[in-house]
Amino acid sequence: MRTILLGPPGAGKGTQAEVIVKEFQIPHISTGDIFRENIKNGTELGKKAQEYMDKGLLVPDELVVAIVEDRLKKEDCKKGFLLDGFPRTLPQAEALDNVLKDMNVTLNKVINIEVAKEKLIQRAVGRRICRQCATAYHVDFNPPEKEGICDKCGGELYQRADDTEETISKRIEVYLKDTKPLIKYYQDQDILVTIDGEKDIKEVSKAVVQTLGGES
Ligand code: ADP
Ligand code: ADP
Ligand code: ZN
Repeated sequence: MRTILLGPPGAGKGTQAEVIVKEFQIPHISTGDIFRENIKNGTELGKKAQEYMDKGLLVPDELVVAIVEDRLKKEDCKKGFLLDGFPRTLPQAEALDNVLKDMNVTLNKVINIEVAKEKLIQRAVGRRICRQCATAYHVDFNPPEKEGICDKCGGELYQRADDTEETISKRIEVYLKDTKPLIKYYQDQDILVTIDGEKDIKEVSKAVVQTLGGES
């Protein structure tokens, strides 16, 4: 299974990614998670990315494409992969097509998760992330069993610096301008499926897994 999760910030991509990678046993490639890991470790890449992320802007295409290209060439991607948060611009999508062509593979499906703007802000503002394993929770919609602690690994939960109402609004603006055109790009390739992301987490998961031809 080679697939992409497309959707505005806060739509539930990361949440649904967890279910997909479990069902299909494929690696989860989240460019946002890769950048946050680099920021945590104080790498040069992390320093560069943070300047853009804090402002709600996209990291430049060249940086992102190079990272994804490297990642896709690793052995574990031979059985497939799930891209979450990449591509986010037309040049990124075109670069991805070239990489896949080199690898002699094609995408199975692109899942477009649709959620209205007011809900995106509510979701992002209440989002809490595990410092250790990057699992996302929500203070109201998907709380952990113990406040502030990850159910899966016991890690500490924190609020992302870019999950303020102001930065989220900026990110939605950037999404509408730079990322939304990818819907047409993948429609033209006949691989886009749009899913209603406003239902509860379990219902969305069911629709996503069914779309991809899975069992649960
Ligand atoms: P969300 O889950 O809210 O959609 P992500 O974790 O995917 O956010 O991304 C957080 C930030 O990381 C983005 O606002 C952007 O600055 C940067 N980023 C992540 N993926 C990309 C990408 N493919 N291209 C450019 N910037 C990216
Ligand atoms: P994205 O990766 O698209 O930015 P996330 O998966 O991180 O989105 O979800 C954003 C926030 O919304 C998280 O706090 C998550 O727990 C919550 N969330 C995800 N899906 C749903 C849903 N279907 N209903 C309500 N809240 C959700
Ligand atoms: Zn955790």
